[in-house]
Amino acid sequence: MTERKNVKKARNYLVTCQCPKCEKNSEHSFTRVQKGSTLICPHCNQLFQPAKNVAA
Ligand SMILES: [Zn+2]
Repeated sequence: MTERKNVKKARNYLVTCQCPKCEKNSEHSFTRVQKGSTLICPHCNQLFQPAKNVAA
């Protein structure tokens, strides 16, 4: 018996992060968020660190 697993492809995976300045949501690469890279808000160009409670 073969069990089918739902495997999500990791490529182009985006997560929504909220900007601490303008509080608008924007999508960022999951890889960057996971690495703790600095993100840039597309609404106000604010640089910020992603929240640590992002679910994988
Ligand atoms: Zn912003």
